[in-house]
Formats: sequence, structure tokens, C-alpha cells
Amino acid sequence: MACPAGPWEPLAVQTGSVIDALRRGEPCVFRQRAAHWPAVAQWSWERLEALAPDLPVRLVQGNRELDATVFQASTLGAYLRSLHGPATPGAAPLYLKEFDLLGTFAALRADVRPQELFPPGALHDAQTWIGPAGARTGLHHDYLDNLAVQLVGRKRFYLLRPGVVERLGAVAAKHDRWAALASLNADAVAERGVAVGDAWMVDLEPGDVIYVPARWWHEVANHTSSVLLSGFFGPRTVVYAQWAWRQAVHGAHLAGLWRRGDCTCHPKRVNAC
Ligand SMILES: [Zn+2]
Repeated sequence: MACPAGPWEPLAVQTGSVIDALRRGEPCVFRQRAAHWPAVAQWSWERLEALAPDLPVRLVQGNRELDATVFQASTLGAYLRSLHGPATPGAAPLYLKEFDLLGTFAALRADVRPQELFPPGALHDAQTWIGPAGARTGLHHDYLDNLAVQLVGRKRFYLLRPGVVERLGAVAAKHDRWAALASLNADAVAERGVAVGDAWMVDLEPGDVIYVPARWWHEVANHTSSVLLSGFFGPRTVVYAQWAWRQAVHGAHLAGLWRRGDCTCHPKRVNAC
């Protein structure tokens, strides 16, 4: 992939403790902080494929944060085989998002060391994003801090400071259970002008860890087929408060009272007339 044009500055590399970086509240990357995890050294597509080849999975087609929400059904084995086979030219990438790999396959938990990253006492989850080169998560922000570990492959994060998208009036109405979405992609926001220190970019290699603080906008694109382990976390009271609020919003959505037909969780409907 070509070097980014425009205002994207390289994200700060942190060599100190994760706790110190979290205290500063600015995004950063910890190069090779998880390089010694068995998952980074040992996971292969063939090994993951063999876990449960017939397990049904739901794939997201294309960039559902920015474009229409489209799903496709597959099996874990067929999908993972497609990630190391030849790409289908012109097809929108299919993405296995928010997949509970470690919950589904308990044996894999021995291959990761989340306790080395998260602050003592913090609540955290762990989900995986598994996708091909070109797969993209559109510009959005989450409501909790996140630490994500690149386990397999390479991907790029674009980050924009809280307020940048809001000042452009580019916060989307589209509903997402856990995130706020933007109605522009990251490059389109950058083209409209951002201040020095507001736009950051980093390429992650296997073993790298990124810290994305709550409410920092980010867009993520795969350079290669990739597995990212992502953990939202925070003090117990903060996590419970955010969870209860998002559950209430999402409950209203499921009842048809909030953003019906404009969301990342239901497929785009085609009107008959
Ligand atoms: Zn929905």
C-alpha cells in the first residue's frame, strides 16, 4: 500500500509500561510487546481452519460502517481457506468481525497473555477481527478504551482526535450497538483539514499492540489477511455504566424505536415500491 498523503503523522511508539501510557490517554503503539505470545509465533490459517471447519459464521460484506449493511453466511473452514487462497477480483471483502475465537475454542486461550496488558482490576473482553487484505472497518469511535494485539498479518490504523469529526458535522445517524459512526471516511475528513497532532497513522505487524482511547475516531484497513485480538476495558463502574447505556439504546433499536433500518446489525432492506 502506498504511503498516506495528507496530514497523517506516524503514531507515537511507547517503550514504557502500558499503565503509564493509559494514564496519558493518548493513542500509541507498543512495538512487539506481544511478540512472545504463542499465538503470534504459532497460529497459522491451517491450524485455525482445523478447529471447527463446519462451524457456521456470519460475514460482513464490504464497509458496513459507511456503506450498506450486508451479511453473508459461510463456515469457519471455508472462510479461513479463502483467506490464504487467491482473492476474488472485484469482490467486496468479506470480514469476520467481533468473533469470540477464544470463547469458542478454549484451548486457544493458552496462546495469549492478556493479563500482561490490562490494568489490574480492569474488566476486559476479547474478540477477534479476521479478514482478508483490503477488508476495512469504517471510521467510528468506541465508548471504552481499547488495547488490540496484531496476532497474524498486517493492518493499518488511522486515528483522529475526538471532536474532529463532530466539528465537521460528520457524525452519522446510523446505529451501531457499541460505537458512534462517521458519515465520511478518514481520508475525506483529513482532506477537509485537521490540525497538527489530530491525525495519526500506524501499520501494525504481528506482535504489535495498539492503544486506542475511548472516543478517538479510527478507521482500520488490512494490508494482508489478518487476525486482530481486540479488548475493550475499563474500571468496573465505567464498563457497567457504558454497557447499560448501550444496551438501552440497542434495546430501543431492536424494538423499532431507534434508527430502524439504518444500522450495522440488520441487513439493508430493499423496498418493494
Ligand atoms: Zn439493526
